This record gives sequence, structure tokens and C-alpha cells, in this order.
Amino acid sequence: MIIENIPTVNIEDKLFLNRYIVDEIPHLVIIDQEVCRGCTAKPCMTFCPARVYEWKDDHTTVGYEGCLECGACRIACSFNNIQWTFPRGGFGVQFRLA
Ligand code: SF4
Ligand code: SF4
Repeated sequence: MIIENIPTVNIEDKLFLNRYIVDEIPHLVIIDQEVCRGCTAKPCMTFCPARVYEWKDDHTTVGYEGCLECGACRIACSFNNIQWTFPRGGFGVQFRLA
């Protein structure tokens, strides 16, 4: 059965609406890269909706500039290996709904 006229949401399009005021000081920091090397599941690479975390060569990179400040990574890193703060005042994401 084909259901018509159901609006769909493209998450990439929604994220594109956001604006970011980027601070030069990262508000997300990996505490110990050695811990990341021993983390086989690397859940941060999948649960972050903004794909902030990536594995490059032998370490975790943090593209904090695109962070949505949802807070998921502060609780989901199995090793509590992410130092998480909000961006400084005046910096960070500005959400746009349309
Ligand atoms: S989940 Fe935590 S320990 Fe594992 S790779 Fe990500 S930041 Fe490192
Ligand atoms: S706070 Fe949310 S968007 Fe920002 S890095 Fe963590 S999981 Fe990703």
C-alpha cells in the first residue's frame, strides 16, 4: 500500500538551517586518547547526531564547531572520556526552525 501526502523530514536539511558562532576554544575535549584506542565500540562515532566525533589514524577527532549541544555524549561515552561544557556565552549553535 502506498501512503501519499505524508510530509517527510530530512535531517540534513534541518541541520543546514542552524547557524554556529564558533569559539576558538573547544568546549568538547577528549580527556585521554589512549582510552579511545582501547574503546572498541566507539559509540561516540554513531550516537552524535552532528557527527562531531571521527576516528582518524589512531585518535578521535572532535569537530566541536558543529556541536548541537544535545548533551548525549556526556553520558554515552562508556569511559566518561569526554570533557563536556557548554560553549562560552555568545558562542555555539543557534537553532532555526524554518
Ligand atoms: S566513546 Fe569515549 S572512549 Fe570511546 S572513542 Fe568515543 S570518546 Fe573515546
Ligand atoms: S553534545 Fe550532542 S551534538 Fe554535541 S558532540 Fe555531544 S552528542 Fe554530538
